[in-house]
Amino acid sequence: MSSQSFKCPACGGPNQPETGATRMACTYCGANLTIPERLRIKIIPKAEKTSAPPQKIDVIEVDASQVLRKAQPILTGAWNVYAYGTLARWVLPACLTLVVVILLICAALGLFPILWISNWISNR
Ligand SMILES: [Zn+2]
Repeated sequence: MSSQSFKCPACGGPNQPETGATRMACTYCGANLTIPERLRIKIIPKAEKTSAPPQKIDVIEVDASQVLRKAQPILTGAWNVYAYGTLARWVLPACLTLVVVILLICAALGLFPILWISNWISNR
């Protein structure tokens, strides 16, 4: 337990600060004391939470196989969506770049004859 104590201003008795309290009665003279802020023991919700999980984990472990069996179609569906998502993510830009490249090639191939013809016409 915390060895930190503060002296009662009325009787000088050492008082142990109460957990979660800002004020308390002196254990020696009963004077109304304000617990110094640095000695205040705050109620930390994390402490309660850390004690709770083990039971919850046990429950999850018991149902894990059943949950997995129930979740398997959902998981495979999610996996398919993920796979299609990644496929689309990789294939779509590739297709787009391919289309752009093809268009550029077509434009180049289409432009060159025009240039050759225009050159040929202007040279005549
Ligand atoms: Zn006192």
